[in-house]
Amino acid sequence: QLILALETSCDETAAAVIRNGHEIVANVVASQIESHKRFGGVVPEIASRHHVEQITVVVEETLNQANLTFADIDAIAVTEGPGLVGALLIGVNAAKALAFAHQKPLIGVHHIAGHIYANQLIKKLEFPLLSLVVSGGHTELVYMESHGQFKVIGETRDDAAGEAYDKVARTLNLPYPGGPHIDRLAHEGEPLIDLPRAWLEEGSYDFSFSGLKSAVINTVHNAKQKGEEILPQTLAASFQASVIDVLVTKTVKAAKEYNVKQVLVAGGVAANKGLRAALEEAFAPLSNIELIIPPLSLCTDNAAMIGAAASVRFAQGKRSDMSLNANPGLDLEE
Ligand code: ATP
Ligand code: MG
Ligand code: FE
Repeated sequence: QLILALETSCDETAAAVIRNGHEIVANVVASQIESHKRFGGVVPEIASRHHVEQITVVVEETLNQANLTFADIDAIAVTEGPGLVGALLIGVNAAKALAFAHQKPLIGVHHIAGHIYANQLIKKLEFPLLSLVVSGGHTELVYMESHGQFKVIGETRDDAAGEAYDKVARTLNLPYPGGPHIDRLAHEGEPLIDLPRAWLEEGSYDFSFSGLKSAVINTVHNAKQKGEEILPQTLAASFQASVIDVLVTKTVKAAKEYNVKQVLVAGGVAANKGLRAALEEAFAPLSNIELIIPPLSLCTDNAAMIGAAASVRFAQGKRSDMSLNANPGLDLEE
């Protein structure tokens, strides 16, 4: 079974071919980061224009690398949401055109289901499982009893973890996207500043990062007024310590309460070295829970993960038709 998958929900134009839901045959990502950098974030109009220019080239390059033609492909998958509507539309329309022209089944995929299924490219999934989703727009704990069944047991009430990283990076005058820069600085400093941790109500698996973000901004502001100097390394380390403390503590607690066999980590912030190390340390003593963290290239946006998620829908007989549309507010739980 060979699936050609497309992903254009944000600022990477990506295509991939996945065999049997878990094997990467080809995986091409054209990043637009350089074009958005000088604006300090993703500019939707620029993203759409890049997708239009890149999508055909990226699909061709993917099939070339895979050494396949459309005749070999069993289905065409695409991210239908959530994301930037103009960006999603390019991928959805390209996928519809290809599916129509080559008479292939079409499969719409939820972007976050994709991030979660990136883990299937590493290991066979075993249920029940828990997934910590930490990306630019989402911070969620997702419980799964079986394939394609998502239950959000906790989510952020304000900023996503990646969003907090990017905003704090901006305060420290670091380039977009700020996550990797904060990560690097954090390893050069000590978490000497005591920043807040939003535990929320007893038993809640929800998250909140806006208070932490404000605390960082206030700390920088107050230091400036007093003429004191705080090392960016110290701030980055303190901020990262707070984020990781909450993410890891809640993930461990939920994994135990829900008695899961596996814990998956998903989304761009899963590329964070501090978070990966802290999760590995926390789950090492829990021998009945298997922790899976994808390599960095499968944490950030890519189409291989969309192909992996699509293979499950394909096997379950789920198909989209030509009415498939970009849906920026698509619900994971359906
Ligand atoms: P979503 O998946 O929620 O729609 P998105 O697709 O924009 O959002 P991703 O591409 O999954 O998000 O992740 C991008 C985010 O990951 C950015 O906020 C970026 O700063 C963050 N990120 C990437 N690498 C790291 C890192 N090493 N440490 C922390 N954050 C990181
Ligand atoms: Mg991105
Ligand atoms: Fe993403």
